[in-house]
Amino acid sequence: MSEDDIREIRINPIIPTESVLIATARSSRPRKKEPPFVFDRRLHVADCHFCRGNEEMTPPEILRLPAAGDWQIRVVKNLYPVFGDEHSLEELSFGVQQVIDGYGRHEVIIDHSRHGISIHEMSISHLTMLFALYRDRMAQLYEADNNHRYVLVFKNFGPAAGGSIPHTHSQIIAMPIIPYNVEAEVANSRIYFQKKQRCVFCSLIDEATSYEATLYERNSGKIRRKIDIGQYVVERSEHFIAIKPFASRFEWEVHILPLVHQHDYTAIGNETCRDLGQILKRVMARLEQVLGGVQYNYFLHSAPHDTRAEDLQESFHWHLEICPRTSIPNGFELGSGLAVNTLSPEKAARQLREAEIADLD
Ligand SMILES: [Zn+2]
Ligand SMILES: [Zn+2]
Ligand SMILES: [Zn+2]
Repeated sequence: MSEDDIREIRINPIIPTESVLIATARSSRPRKKEPPFVFDRRLHVADCHFCRGNEEMTPPEILRLPAAGDWQIRVVKNLYPVFGDEHSLEELSFGVQQVIDGYGRHEVIIDHSRHGISIHEMSISHLTMLFALYRDRMAQLYEADNNHRYVLVFKNFGPAAGGSIPHTHSQIIAMPIIPYNVEAEVANSRIYFQKKQRCVFCSLIDEATSYEATLYERNSGKIRRKIDIGQYVVERSEHFIAIKPFASRFEWEVHILPLVHQHDYTAIGNETCRDLGQILKRVMARLEQVLGGVQYNYFLHSAPHDTRAEDLQESFHWHLEICPRTSIPNGFELGSGLAVNTLSPEKAARQLREAEIADLD
């Protein structure tokens, strides 16, 4: 079967209960494509609440960087928080229904003072400051309250990714539970570690950088699949690797992982933040080059700071998942829980790797 005609279910190696249908043949494309989006590229918008000069229009400020002079990044309360600290924390059960109070924090990080700037256009020093801020704010929210069982940092960019405000921003949410997606990764990587005495993420990195194989059809002797070294690698830097997952849920999904095992994002140093900013900038430039006007979500998965998860130092490995949104999930995907990806991950990885990007710094 050629790369252009794949119909196969691929199992997520981190969470084996999750799988993806790779269906690249034109006749098996069940999804509607998102139309390309034209971004607001203006530097400053007079009535934008997040633009410099309109500071009094936002909810209360939590911090700004730098603290004096013109700010580059601001953190403010979310006007419409999904979790809040005014709640009671009381749990409630009735019949089969169970309720956990929506206790927590919800903050907005205004990533840049420039309104319509994309990640790949930000300077490395700015991105270093942003990734160090994610780290510091995450650590502060864990320390502030033991009821913050998980702190999630994420970014929505573009309406197809749920970005309702055009000015570039990220969000940070401290919540009273460890959410399912994190819990599933935590639990399964723990099981993997118990069996193999190895971190599953480290194993994936090793495989992406050293594994090659040719698989033959037993009867005909024809080559069924060839796996080349580096086939899934999009970018590499001193401390990080950007990988196209074999079982990608989204056509252009890319994950960035630290090369040296580390379970907790809040432990990264400033120099590492700089390298992370650099590799993210390069990956985003590649996505922009290939897709044009890329709308995406990214989020950090880091080990929870939770006494019930204290054994995660060896088994969990933090990472940044970048999920470009090029189509809307349909009834088949919602009904089956099977994500449909209409582009071969091998082909997408090659296209991203081959995209010509300028020297970025
Ligand atoms: Zn703005
Ligand atoms: Zn690891
Ligand atoms: Zn993850």
